[in-house]
Amino acid sequence: MLPTVTPSAQTRVSKRHLLDLTDADLAEWMKQQGQPKFRVGQVWSWVFQRRADSFQMMSNLPAALRQRLEEDFVIFQADEAACQTSSDGTEKLLVRLSGGGEVECVLLRDGIRRSICVSSQVGCAMGCVFCASGLDGVERNLTRGEILEQMLRLQSRLPEDERLSHIVMMGMGEPLANLNNVLAALDVAKAEKGLGISPRRITISTVGLPPAIDRLAAADVPFNLAVSLHAPNEALRNELVPVNRKVGMDAVLQAADRYFAANGRRLTFEYVLLGGVNDDETCARQLVKLLKSRNVMLNVIPYNPVAGLPYLEPTKTAIAKFRQILEQGGVTVKFRQRKGGEIDAACGQLRRNRQTAG
Ligand code: SAH
Repeated sequence: MLPTVTPSAQTRVSKRHLLDLTDADLAEWMKQQGQPKFRVGQVWSWVFQRRADSFQMMSNLPAALRQRLEEDFVIFQADEAACQTSSDGTEKLLVRLSGGGEVECVLLRDGIRRSICVSSQVGCAMGCVFCASGLDGVERNLTRGEILEQMLRLQSRLPEDERLSHIVMMGMGEPLANLNNVLAALDVAKAEKGLGISPRRITISTVGLPPAIDRLAAADVPFNLAVSLHAPNEALRNELVPVNRKVGMDAVLQAADRYFAANGRRLTFEYVLLGGVNDDETCARQLVKLLKSRNVMLNVIPYNPVAGLPYLEPTKTAIAKFRQILEQGGVTVKFRQRKGGEIDAACGQLRRNRQTAG
């Protein structure tokens, strides 16, 4: 095998990102090269199944074709700006994109699960007051290729006999504000010829944008939907999730109900527990009222402190009481174990901490 040469950022900019190409795009390119169509499948198989990071590795392609591919395309377009590993096996990458900006993605090892958490935008426009990702607003949507590249970079960190099992779109950004590119990337993630991950093991997390939730339902793929609720009433949600002022909690809940009616996947609601803000008994009781008649799982996430923000972690006593009220009220609830706590693994924190550190 020839040694692989990492191209400089300069040469990469002028080449196209292979991961932005659809099957049809690559087939068209192959045709222009006078190549048979089956070469398309060979290239994808190298990239997705055999984890190739260079065209020179693609030993069943003619040398001249490998050369042509290398002239026109790059497989990986970004740079790894930082990588942190936690003692529980969690690995977090900060990816510097050639199109500008940085995003984070995470690999989590949990028993036999190999889950990844992927970003959909540089920054975020939703403005949730406790979240590091949106502190400077949104810069841009990620392309299909930039979303897929995060998945491939994380996959390549696994030994050859291990496969990715789950994907959560819970990194930086609001996936439903970039739905076309997110769906295009997930199409490849779920394809047998792609990463081969069942859509039942793929979760899209959203702040709750009803028209986009309806579009997702219409796509008719059994992805899991997670709705970031964070408050049991309109006034508090308006405060914590500012986009709610335009949308309204009822509209979010109704859209979530329609998603469940359309594809039958049990909904998840996420609730970040902020000490002294949304963790009291009244909140827990209101949540019970809201959720007990719904077929949902409530995922309670203790706040992961963000430097410079005034919020506090909930106390152990508050967590225990909150849990007790929900369980007694008949709500299916999971208290998320914090993974990767020691490595800035909450949304947007690695990028933020590097920016503020200069
Ligand atoms: N925009 C999407 C997906 C990205 S955030 C959404 O809102 O769902 C993924 C989850 O992490 C959301 O529930 C978000 O509210 C939560 N989160 C963000 N910052 C956090 C923090 N500092 N501590 C705990 N959870 C956080």
